[in-house]
Amino acid sequence: MHDGETIVQPQREIASDGAIATQWASVRAKLQQEVGDVEYRTWLKQVSLLGLDGDEVTLVLPTRFLRDWVSKEYGALITTLWQAQNPNVRRIDIRTQQLVRATAPNLAEPTLVTAPPRPEPRGDLAAPLDQRFTFETFVVGKPNEFAYACARRVAEAPSMPGFNPLFLYGGVGLGKTHLMHAIAWELSTQPRNGRSVSVTYMSAEKFMNRFINALRNQSTLEFKNELRSVDVLMIDDVQFLIGKDNTQEEFFHTFNALVDAGKQIVISADKSPSDLSGLEDRLRTRLGCGMVADLHATTYELRISILQAKANRAGVDVPVKVMEFLAHKITSNIRELEAALNRLIAHANLFDRPVTLETAHEVLHDVLKAFDRRVTIQEIQKRVAEHWSIRVTEMSSARRSRNIARPRQVAMYLAKQLTQKSLPDIGRHFGDRDHTTVMHAVSRVTALMATDAAFAEDVELLRRLLES
Ligand code: ADP
Ligand code: MG
Repeated sequence: MHDGETIVQPQREIASDGAIATQWASVRAKLQQEVGDVEYRTWLKQVSLLGLDGDEVTLVLPTRFLRDWVSKEYGALITTLWQAQNPNVRRIDIRTQQLVRATAPNLAEPTLVTAPPRPEPRGDLAAPLDQRFTFETFVVGKPNEFAYACARRVAEAPSMPGFNPLFLYGGVGLGKTHLMHAIAWELSTQPRNGRSVSVTYMSAEKFMNRFINALRNQSTLEFKNELRSVDVLMIDDVQFLIGKDNTQEEFFHTFNALVDAGKQIVISADKSPSDLSGLEDRLRTRLGCGMVADLHATTYELRISILQAKANRAGVDVPVKVMEFLAHKITSNIRELEAALNRLIAHANLFDRPVTLETAHEVLHDVLKAFDRRVTIQEIQKRVAEHWSIRVTEMSSARRSRNIARPRQVAMYLAKQLTQKSLPDIGRHFGDRDHTTVMHAVSRVTALMATDAAFAEDVELLRRLLES
């Protein structure tokens, strides 16, 4: 992961460079001809151009999964097509959008196989909403029912005391953006007291860019007024504001002005307000003073329901066995799960073949391999020990005090989940313990996860870290 290098040279915008944009347009057209419509729409439509630097063209995609897939399957073809347009181009660099979102022009919306209509542009200030992200398409289960209920509530009656701000948090790909868009759709399509509610949704990153542009163009007053005239303001991924002091300050003032004027605010972040260290204290306090709702890691049941719903919507018959297989294998987040299903469906459409367990294995071979990445028991022990601040040697020690025994059990549980090792084998790595001890640890952790949400989150977090 390249998490460190958030923004790549903002001045490398291509919007101003006509030649490279024209080349990209022809490369796209050729690509579409070359691979056909379905494949193009499924994989390539989402590629956008970041720019040309020397002899290297940079393209971006919204997810790692797509990036890997497009690089592997189409990298060579794109290079060839590009060189036919411009022989000076030597290399095509394909990366993920997270690194460059702030600067990438015209980021296409994610596509489903059943190409959704383009979201309507919603004024200059707001980002477009994804038409697929509605309450109707949101599958509700234990991990997200509270957040869903809060979102529904705000959509029904914005600015209710106790629900302002609504703060949604949770890991990547668990539905924060989906819920925010759903609220925005609901509010903007249902006039209240004879007047439509004006909703502005944008990422914190976009907020920052707008603010910086306003500073640059000496139009901060317009920017402020524009923001303060909305009824509902939604800012996605506020963790992005960490370390951006001026933007934080501006956001804080906007926030206060809106709340004081009785407007609704909806915020999302990857952590709870109290865990967003790096945000100013007074801002954190304000963020947390309304309703705070978290989206937990998915459960197997929720993953199955989501797959069912998505297959239904796509009108494709996906056997239960295939869904079970996917729900077992892809536990990281809903976005990855959806991507895998889309790929299966695309493949089925492309070759006009039904989806079966065999085709799933075949089509998702490389994806699943990534999920199967061999984690060693030592790695697990090290991570878990770090997480609970105990020494790694305690994993094999005979001590049985709770603060040591519990992490040890979690490590055993994760070893069972993430490696192919047998119970006796796992036991041996934990100070020669018996396989029944490992079994006990697995059932103990499973039971605890079902009753203690915070604990379940810790374990899921560790699993995600180890799997990535
Ligand atoms: P986040 O903003 O938390 O990273 P998103 O809202 O972008 O995650 O969700 C990632 C993908 O998973 C989206 O395509 C979204 O529609 C889908 N998704 C997430 N939660 C659900 C859900 N409960 N039901 C159906 N789809 C979901
Ligand atoms: Mg999001």
